[in-house]
Amino acid sequence: MKVDLHTHTYYSDGSHSPKEVVDLALGRNVEILAITDHDVILGVHEALKAAEGKNIKVIPGIEVSSSVQDKKETVHLVGLFVNINSPRLKKLSNDIIKLKKYKTKKRLESVNKYFGSNITEGDLSQKTKGTPGLPHIGMVLLERGYVGTIKEGIRSMTNGGPCYIKFAGRVVPSKEAIKIIHGAGGIAILAHLSAYKNENKFITFEEQEKLIKELIGYGLDGLEIYIPDTKKDEIKFGEEMARKYNLKLSGGSDFHNEKFIPQNKLGFLNIEKNKLSVLKDRIKIM
Ligand SMILES: [Zn+2]
Repeated sequence: MKVDLHTHTYYSDGSHSPKEVVDLALGRNVEILAITDHDVILGVHEALKAAEGKNIKVIPGIEVSSSVQDKKETVHLVGLFVNINSPRLKKLSNDIIKLKKYKTKKRLESVNKYFGSNITEGDLSQKTKGTPGLPHIGMVLLERGYVGTIKEGIRSMTNGGPCYIKFAGRVVPSKEAIKIIHGAGGIAILAHLSAYKNENKFITFEEQEKLIKELIGYGLDGLEIYIPDTKKDEIKFGEEMARKYNLKLSGGSDFHNEKFIPQNKLGFLNIEKNKLSVLKDRIKIM
């Protein structure tokens, strides 16, 4: 059975509308699809609508950026089966959108000053129905001939680039993130277990277990281990951890845009339904 429990739309950093993601999933025979945008829930409603009457089940989700005690890098927690009307979840989502708008405004000022361009917020809104960000500024810079590629435009605004602005991060402590997910009736899952790094090196199994144990202390429910490009021993380790700590298992592509990130292919996961224990008791499997 094809299942994808981790995907993004243009409401966070994906490139597609929720309807396009649903249609693409349908075209690939995905039966269960979760929309899990970074820190926002805006795309869920549209995806649910797009799936009405179709042979696909959409699970409302979110991916919350969070921080643990002694790890500098952000830990991503996927919340599945969340109630998108939960006030706390809505607040998190609204705060992030406000912050993103503020950052875009500041970046635009910096870009216009450096390139002598005259890009307005209105120009960016035409590039997406979601919240404009780095790629959309990059697109307009390219269109108007200030840069040779979108990537070059983005690079001018990221660390080391001439238009770079350092913003204070907005990540919630993992403990709070799990609380928010649970408060919305959702299941909290550690996203892409094998993909975390510390100082540019993938963390070891030992470090992964330490991270899992800390998160269990906050109420973690599951691990996402069936992801693109995982090695057999990583999956084996994840399954072992799930058994040891009584955690559910999940999987998904982390789809954003296959042109930019081709390995994160929507619907790549073809799995026996009983392996995705995160779905158990939550969904009637077709
Ligand atoms: Zn993701």
